Amino acid sequence: MIKDNLEKIQERINQVNHTQFVTLIAVSKTRSVDELQQAINTGQKHFAENYLQEALIKINHLKGQNLIWHFIGPIQSNKTLKIAKNFDWVHSVDRLKIAKRLNEQRPKNLPNLKVLLQINIDNEPIKSGASIEQIDELVTHFESLKNLTLRGFMCIPNPSNSAQNFTRMTSIIKQYPNLDALSMGMSRDLESAITNGATFLRIGTDIFGKRA
Ligand SMILES: *Cc1c(COP(=O)(O)O)cnc(C)c1O
Repeated sequence: MIKDNLEKIQERINQVNHTQFVTLIAVSKTRSVDELQQAINTGQKHFAENYLQEALIKINHLKGQNLIWHFIGPIQSNKTLKIAKNFDWVHSVDRLKIAKRLNEQRPKNLPNLKVLLQINIDNEPIKSGASIEQIDELVTHFESLKNLTLRGFMCIPNPSNSAQNFTRMTSIIKQYPNLDALSMGMSRDLESAITNGATFLRIGTDIFGKRA
């Protein structure tokens, strides 16, 4: 089932005209180690988790399989040490304090932690993410942190106008020639995300089924 779902999503991706390299990330929050292993057995390498404790158990169980782990959940200061030690990518960095802690805590024997700046593209007051006005300053600060590599931006747009916001993300990243990664697009809107330049798709439900 998971295998069929992954094939279907790959077909959907292939049907969209695009020139950029698109990486499918399996969002595996709440899923069991066994479900992840089924995806791994079909060749899936990229997984994303929202909750640290849950993620650490899976990372530990599945180590040695060359997986790439993405953290996509909200980050409190007391979580940064374990995120810095255990993940390859962090998509949900939205303030300097968190970026600085990740930078200080990234173990020296690991490659740089790759980070994305999360943007509150709808400017919704209750949502996490930096505002569009903050981007310039945060990019400059993030780029000065030597154990992090800022690669681009992430957003979780309001479903009611995601296409328009994907387009806005694309025009924002064009202003930063060093940045090449756009994490946007979920199960319902992956086609329009790809059309608008997404390089990471974050898909949970359409791979593993509905969450309990
Ligand atoms: C849960 C989650 C997803 C995946 O959502 P689905 O609806 O299960 O495909 C993507 N991005 C983030 C940030 C999430 O928290």
